[in-house]
Amino acid sequence: MRKIPFVSNKKLREIVKKYPTPFHIYDEKGIRENVQALNEAFSWNEGFKEYFAVKANPNPFILKIFQEYGCGCDCSSLTELMLAHSLGFEGEDIMFSSNATPDNEFIYANKIGATINLDDFTHIEVLDKLVGIPETISCRFNPGGLFTISNSIMDNPGDAKYGFTKEQLIEGFKILKSKGAKYFGIHAFLASNTVTNEYYPTLAKTLFETAVELVEKTGVELKFVNLSGGIGIPYTPEQEPNDIRVIGDAVRVVYEEIFGAAGLYDVAIYTELGRFMMGPYGALVSTAIREKHTHKEYIGLDACAVNLMRPAMYGAYHHITVMGKENAPCDHKYDVTGSLCENNDKFAIDRMLPKIDIGDLIYIHDTGAHGFAMGYNYNGKLKSAEILLREDGSTQLIRRAETPKDYFATFDFCDILKDMDYNN
Ligand SMILES: *Cc1c(COP(=O)(O)O)cnc(C)c1O
Repeated sequence: MRKIPFVSNKKLREIVKKYPTPFHIYDEKGIRENVQALNEAFSWNEGFKEYFAVKANPNPFILKIFQEYGCGCDCSSLTELMLAHSLGFEGEDIMFSSNATPDNEFIYANKIGATINLDDFTHIEVLDKLVGIPETISCRFNPGGLFTISNSIMDNPGDAKYGFTKEQLIEGFKILKSKGAKYFGIHAFLASNTVTNEYYPTLAKTLFETAVELVEKTGVELKFVNLSGGIGIPYTPEQEPNDIRVIGDAVRVVYEEIFGAAGLYDVAIYTELGRFMMGPYGALVSTAIREKHTHKEYIGLDACAVNLMRPAMYGAYHHITVMGKENAPCDHKYDVTGSLCENNDKFAIDRMLPKIDIGDLIYIHDTGAHGFAMGYNYNGKLKSAEILLREDGSTQLIRRAETPKDYFATFDFCDILKDMDYNN
């Protein structure tokens, strides 16, 4: 089965004349249509707001697009907070969902008015001592056990480091209220990359029931329920994509049933989607630069795990299209590799593809989320550029590629590399 790139071979050949491979390219049209569909799917809820999970794609140009649609930012570190703040996301536009949070990050989040989503009961006291308890506060829930949908196990919250237990939430809300908090939210992230329309409604039921119990037992004013991330994308061509309209409507049904019965009518629904917002709208474009015929057939790319870590880290599947050979038979079996001195640096293993020739453009699908962002610098490899394919077909450089100078910049406090020759 095939997956269709969002850019044609002809167009891409033009683009690589201007921007050498490897680079990540993003599809502005796809991004905009998808965020509109999300907002429509939840338009039944007056306070609905998507806080884009910045870690999935921390590019300021991408964040500015989401800002146009009323989205906020979900941050979990100092630099993510700084990025959001400098782009004009203010106060309630920023959700700070972090864990094992350092003091300076609580202090900065509070200073810029971000909504703090506490990961742990013991953080109440930490926050109180550092800056006091803010008016609006959120707590992250972990129900423990296994998270199942229709008898199939989706994930294992009992083994996850995040969140309060139910008992801690009840006690925590009471303490927070006594210390001056007025508006409360709860949050949970129980399964990742779910490719089923049932994830959000199932999670919503758990969170709404918990929220009703919390309100009854603690008398707090519940302002929002944060369904967080976890809506997945079809990385393989066989998978059926989620239908956000079906998901939004199913959450509405649960909302009316549980909050309706409890007389809670103005609780806002928040989301912190990352993968769903960007995953399909990014691709890693690279060139086949080497071949190798030993115990297996190899194709070596000018990209490596530094540009896209998911296959090496999780054995994740990323579909590959050999540009210009979209309809050629997949009758060759390849390992498609990068150049790191690590044998897990493989974008595909035993993948059936058309015959690849040196110089072919290799399009690696679905890298828009947790792609560039996970990059690192092993083997001294440099991070790539990011390009935005505009709706009018033009391209915009939205991050330049790293240079050796960037790589060595952290030695600028001394002169040990003063004789480095950057002209090569
Ligand atoms: C990673 C993360 C998200 C986004 O998850 P996706 O699977 O990309 O949607 C949202 N919220 C928190 C707290 C996260 O850690």
